[in-house]
Amino acid sequence: MDNEQTYQGSCFCGDVQFTVSGAPEAMGYCHCESCRHWSGGPVNAFSLWKPEAVQITRGADNIGSYHKTDNSHRKWCKTCGGHFLSEHPLMGLTDVYASAIPDFDHQAAVHVNYQETTLRIKDGLPKLRDFPAEMGGSGDVLPE
Ligand SMILES: [Zn+2]
Ligand SMILES: [Zn+2]
Repeated sequence: MDNEQTYQGSCFCGDVQFTVSGAPEAMGYCHCESCRHWSGGPVNAFSLWKPEAVQITRGADNIGSYHKTDNSHRKWCKTCGGHFLSEHPLMGLTDVYASAIPDFDHQAAVHVNYQETTLRIKDGLPKLRDFPAEMGGSGDVLPE
């Protein structure tokens, strides 16, 4: 019995392909300096999954990896340079970027690391100073 929904993901050029299955643990936008500096964009649309929900189906030997900190192992395709996920081993979660799984309906519930924002987004969702308290953050909510 397998009633889990599966979504196809890929890097920018398609050399690396993967699937995500089931439902994510959390979805939202990260405004932190690390996400911005690495991605080149002002925010990162994240979806956090259990590591086993993410399966590389093609191009596993073509994946580059870099970690500046122990909690974020950032992955990209060596052919096109396209970013598609970050592993967060200390949290036991994998962040798959919403843009890399176009068929997945990304429903953001929260903005995190809003104290570092360079792009204020007035969408009515909660804006956390850093991370939720249950994830080791302050849980503080900032004005939009
Ligand atoms: Zn690629
Ligand atoms: Zn971030």
